[in-house]
Amino acid sequence: MEKILIVDDSRLHATQLRDILKDEYEVTIAHTAQDGICRASAENYSLILLDVVMPGMDGFTLLKILQEEIITQSVPVIIITSLSNAEDEQRGFILGAVDYITKPFNPLVVKARVNTHIKLYNYRKQVEYQSLTDQLTGIANRRQYEQTSIMKWKEAARLQVPFSVCMLDIDRFKIYNDTFGHPAGDKVIAAVAKTVSSYLGRNTDFFARYGGEEFVACLLGDDAEKAFSYLKTIRQAVEDLHIPHNPSVAEWVTVSIGGVTVVPLVGSSYDASLKMADAMLYEAKETGRNRVVWTDENQNQLREK
Ligand code: GH3
Ligand code: MG
Ligand code: MG
Repeated sequence: MEKILIVDDSRLHATQLRDILKDEYEVTIAHTAQDGICRASAENYSLILLDVVMPGMDGFTLLKILQEEIITQSVPVIIITSLSNAEDEQRGFILGAVDYITKPFNPLVVKARVNTHIKLYNYRKQVEYQSLTDQLTGIANRRQYEQTSIMKWKEAARLQVPFSVCMLDIDRFKIYNDTFGHPAGDKVIAAVAKTVSSYLGRNTDFFARYGGEEFVACLLGDDAEKAFSYLKTIRQAVEDLHIPHNPSVAEWVTVSIGGVTVVPLVGSSYDASLKMADAMLYEAKETGRNRVVWTDENQNQLREK
């Protein structure tokens, strides 16, 4: 069941609203703005119904806070006003409310408005999800990568922990396509993505399809030795899928991996690290493929073979 939060100091109004909605939604009530903030940031609500007039912090102030917080800013808010107060409605819209409901409540109108906004919210979430996900593999796409990699980089710079970026590219993939056909190639890309993803499950890990048969991963916390060693395990896991390649180039489908680990200095550039990872990938390809080549911030290289 979808969750709705009602923030209203009046027990009578809050209970009336809950009774109208409780058959279709899981309804939580907060009687103060402060409690509303706590609950809204702790749970995933699909909609917030917000009373404007409350003692202490009023609904407008709460609305402003909700709009500023990343966790709550996308949740639609419907403000509750009394019939006579058009100014409140206007102010609510300016602050980002999606709609208003007037007291006394008309159950049918309340239900209709709530249903409409929850439908729109879910649709928006689905579109957002699709725009950030690669269709073939189900992992993050290039667009999500562009947003997330910089966030991860900044986080590592703030915490002063090692940050690794690595590029991963399927070996001799043009020949695979030429031999087995493009649809078979697509399946390989999906299988490689699935296998690599299964090794990057920490919530600090990030893995995306960079384009074509190339992937990018960001890891937080591990030093160069550890990251290098972990990526060797991942490289081996792909080889161990035992997907037959064209025998003239290789027995199985494999990947080459290039990476770099640095503790980001404040103001240093993420792009330089990505370039370094790409240079390491190039080395891995040049020195025979199906291997990991890594470097740390002092340009000490770690080579697999
Ligand atoms: P290398 O070992 O140097 O990486 O050689 P390669 O053949 O893998 O590299 P190259 O960049 O020459 O070719 C990449 C190939 O990947 C060519 C392209 O047709 C194929 N490819 C890119 N995207 C897709 C895709 O979405 N599906 C399929 N099936 N093939 C793709
Ligand atoms: Mg390739
Ligand atoms: Mg490539």
